[in-house]
Amino acid sequence: MGANKQKNKDLNQLRSDMFELFTTNTNISYSTCMTEASNKVCSFLKADVAVLYQLDEWKGRYHLITDREEMKQKFHETLSLKDFRGTPRQYLFDLTSDEQLSIPKQKEYIQAYQLPLFSDERCLGFMWVGFKEEISLPLSLLDGLALEITRCVNHAVSCYASIEEGQKYELLYNVAAKFHSSIDMDGVLKEIIATLRKIYPEFHYYLLLSQSYTSDSELPVRELTYERDASSKASTHAFLTGEVQIEERKSEMQSFLYAPLKGKQGIYGVLEVAAPSYLYFPQKDIDFFVLISNTAGKALENAKLYMQSRSLIDDLQLINETAHKLNSNMRLTEKISYMASQIKTSFQADEVGFLIFNNENDKQAYSVLDGSSPFFISERAEHLIYEISRMSGKTQEPLFVGDYAAKTGGGECPYQSIMAVPMMAHDQLNGLAVVFKKTPYFFSFDSFKLLQSLVHHSTLAFANSMLREELEKTIITDYLTKLHSRNYLDKCMDKYLEQDELGHFILIDIDNFKKVNDTYGHQVGDAVITQVAQSIKKIVGEQGLAARWGGEELAVYLPSLSIEKAYEMTDYIREEISVVTNPSVTVSCGISSWTAENRPESQRIVQQADDALYTAKGSGKNQIIMAGQAPGSFIF
Ligand code: GH3
Ligand code: MG
Ligand code: MG
Repeated sequence: MGANKQKNKDLNQLRSDMFELFTTNTNISYSTCMTEASNKVCSFLKADVAVLYQLDEWKGRYHLITDREEMKQKFHETLSLKDFRGTPRQYLFDLTSDEQLSIPKQKEYIQAYQLPLFSDERCLGFMWVGFKEEISLPLSLLDGLALEITRCVNHAVSCYASIEEGQKYELLYNVAAKFHSSIDMDGVLKEIIATLRKIYPEFHYYLLLSQSYTSDSELPVRELTYERDASSKASTHAFLTGEVQIEERKSEMQSFLYAPLKGKQGIYGVLEVAAPSYLYFPQKDIDFFVLISNTAGKALENAKLYMQSRSLIDDLQLINETAHKLNSNMRLTEKISYMASQIKTSFQADEVGFLIFNNENDKQAYSVLDGSSPFFISERAEHLIYEISRMSGKTQEPLFVGDYAAKTGGGECPYQSIMAVPMMAHDQLNGLAVVFKKTPYFFSFDSFKLLQSLVHHSTLAFANSMLREELEKTIITDYLTKLHSRNYLDKCMDKYLEQDELGHFILIDIDNFKKVNDTYGHQVGDAVITQVAQSIKKIVGEQGLAARWGGEELAVYLPSLSIEKAYEMTDYIREEISVVTNPSVTVSCGISSWTAENRPESQRIVQQADDALYTAKGSGKNQIIMAGQAPGSFIF
């Protein structure tokens, strides 16, 4: 009885000694604190050594807690779970037997007591007390001691954890401040990952996002999948319910935590945390992950909203710009080229094409409008276009395909992402705008809507141009220049080529005319074309026919003049134009001549003049080239 009292008294002394550890030394590290506690136990038991091994639940092993180098030399710093099979109340180990634990590296001690530290059935670790001599300690004392040490460790853990928590939350606070000032999605994602790695370096992280917010391949980011396989169930659940999910995969010896990235308006993805050994996640860590995921969700939401408003502005700008451009009097081919290149850049598309169906009931009878990507006139395109027009069906619905191969059973189609939007304008036009990309699931639904809007805005403009060009064919006078129409000149030429002995066809194209339009506007451009036309008409007079060939290109047919006279007249035209036009422009000319010995088709004559004009353009402009002759070589 007396001895027991003594023991209790000593235990009380030990307890207050240990308590002092926490009250007097506020600035010592956790391991120093625990070393002190171990030393106190050692001297209390008059043992030769006492060391604390604490369980690291995450890593599934015990760690020696000490700040003494010599202890690290003498004892194993980590022990695996199976090295300690201690249960409550199994204390004494005889170290003379060989099957004993190998906790100290050398056999210095002959006897050891192990005090398992259990708190609410949970093992915190154990204290190992070594003796060089045999000693017998009563069980009741060991019970009391184990309880005391457990209390001390528990207290220290929560004390130091709260300091650590404080540091963690400060980090989170700093990162949150950074998030909210950032509108760059990549930046936000990088910051999230970096913060997590800083706080819990032992875990693996993945951000499972509902959309591809980033193109940075360095980031551990995946798209969230909804498949019902085991690997995505918990993540999908977290995404759909907005609740954190924990999943233990025994086969992989891993635990996974899924925390939704929640913003105010929605959930943007899920944070996956993989713990590398099969253990549970302590509640305080779960709380932290939830907090950081919510912070990240809000930051993503901010960045997304910012990007959305930016892209909305961009979209509107694009529609506005296109509408302006298309309402100017460009020719159909130019309009198509313009639209094709706009769509190609804005949508990062591989191919853009505009098709016209010649017969409503026959989807194979279509023509590709000039200005479409060359792919559309290839043989490979034919089958594809047929399929697409068939898919879009009688109802003429717009078509949005992300995985063409999967939809059609493959084939050889190189394009997986397809968007097709019908172009309908009353009776004048029945067509289809088609956009291709090789990468599957490339286009977003937003871009599909934008395309519809663009096509809708441009269809009428296309129809107008088509109508105008249709009309041009039937009239004999050009509305702007009052010269003959191209159609009229064409017909006359066929006649002259049959009747006359010789003739010359001259193509005249204004140099750098785009610049005139760009600098002074289309109206001034029109006026310059008219000035050029009048000048030509005045010089040619009754000696030939002048026509507007198209755009800022004019043509003259001279029957019966000698080749020298034809050249002289053309040169006079060239000189005169640079004088009379305001703003002054120059022209390049290509001349193609024929005689009775060799009556070519009119098409050929035109082609030769066109080639000559091309040479003139290529060798400095403001000059005349005779068909088949090198620049500067025409001499009378
Ligand atoms: P180049 O010297 O190579 O001929 O250069 P360019 O700038 O004249 O190039 P190009 O012949 O390819 O472009 C002709 C431009 O003329 C493009 C088109 O917008 C403009 N254009 C065509 N028809 C008309 C028209 O009736 N009125 C006006 N204002 N511009 C026109
Ligand atoms: Mg030109
Ligand atoms: Mg031209």
